[in-house]
Amino acid sequence: PAHRLDGIPPTIFTQMSALALRTGAVNLGQGFPDVDGPASSRARVARAVEEGANQYAPGTGVPALRRAVAEHQRRHYGIDLDPDTQVCATTGATEGIAAALLGLVDPGDEVVVLEPYYDSYVAMIQMAGGVRRPVTLRAPDYRLDVAELRAAVTARTRFVLLNSPHNPTGTVLGPEELQAVADVAIEHDLVVITDEVYEHLVYDDAVHTPISTLPGMAERTLSLSSVGKSWSFTGWKVGWATGPSYLVEAVLNAKQWLTFTSGSPLQPAVAQALDEEADFPLALARDLQGRRDLLCEGLGAAGLPARVPQGTYFASVDVEHLGWEDSTAFCRALPERAGVVAIPLRGFYPDSDAGRHLVRFAFCKTVQVIEDGLARLAAAD
Ligand code: PMP
Ligand code: GLN
Repeated sequence: PAHRLDGIPPTIFTQMSALALRTGAVNLGQGFPDVDGPASSRARVARAVEEGANQYAPGTGVPALRRAVAEHQRRHYGIDLDPDTQVCATTGATEGIAAALLGLVDPGDEVVVLEPYYDSYVAMIQMAGGVRRPVTLRAPDYRLDVAELRAAVTARTRFVLLNSPHNPTGTVLGPEELQAVADVAIEHDLVVITDEVYEHLVYDDAVHTPISTLPGMAERTLSLSSVGKSWSFTGWKVGWATGPSYLVEAVLNAKQWLTFTSGSPLQPAVAQALDEEADFPLALARDLQGRRDLLCEGLGAAGLPARVPQGTYFASVDVEHLGWEDSTAFCRALPERAGVVAIPLRGFYPDSDAGRHLVRFAFCKTVQVIEDGLARLAAAD
């Protein structure tokens, strides 16, 4: 394998889902729902295929999707976008991340990024030749330390790669944290790349505010999201990049050599979901909040007290008190001990020891699956 992949292990999600299949364990690991998104959107895919949406779509995405994304940003956040120059469809947010980093980062450029890292950030910053500058979110409350953020910036820093709501901690950055990031970005003339795939999955009184809506930020922010989480279609792999045209163009420049275009029949269906199933994410979030509470209460009762997250699909537990060497050892043993798969967060913290004993459980599963998993955890020794 090429040296640009040195030190990057196979994605933990694939490893752990394979382990769940092999052992018959309840999979509370990889974040995907076990109930699909709206039937009307699924039917729209079938219709698109029948109607002949079977050849290459435009590289930026079909016009209906770009318009629906612009309308989504306007409706929820009051953001004004030109669908022709400020929106680009991507093959999931994963391609958005890859294309943004490959299209913008030069070798040696530093990227300030919140640790724990969603795993593709590490791989793609490295493949782009960038250097990550960590700002660590620590248990138990996983808040952004503004002093640490400021200390992470050097003369070579050019980007902040943000993720809020944050996977895996569930942190939703609040107004002061976002303002601190914006202040630093403006002061040091940084571009912010923000991964907002969990934008609608926030709970209690948490509010997701896109950093691009802060004063002075629209012109320096590239926003990434996708249909996967908000509409329960993780397998569709349709996402979008939005922002000023010079940043969207950089995404397109790289994307044209990665996938050229994204899947044709899915794009009109995603447009339909954004337009006609606009309320789906809200109802999903209400429902997920209940499942979050079910999971967190059950984990507590099983001797695995979880931090109750403000957003995302995930709750994390510190297992140090149980005497395990680290969370990877804990998770490797868990299928046999309890018949459950969870995700070790040690690997999400490659630049510090802060994740050594953290384990992530997903609550984007049916009540029945969560209850089954919890019963197994409670019965384990
Ligand atoms: N970013 C984060 C933070 C994620 O959790 C995920 C996983 N779903 C992605 C990006 C990838 O999104 P997609 O499936 O749309 O490629
Ligand atoms: N984002 C999902 C998670 O964090 C899974 C995505 C993937 O498997 N790459 O579990």
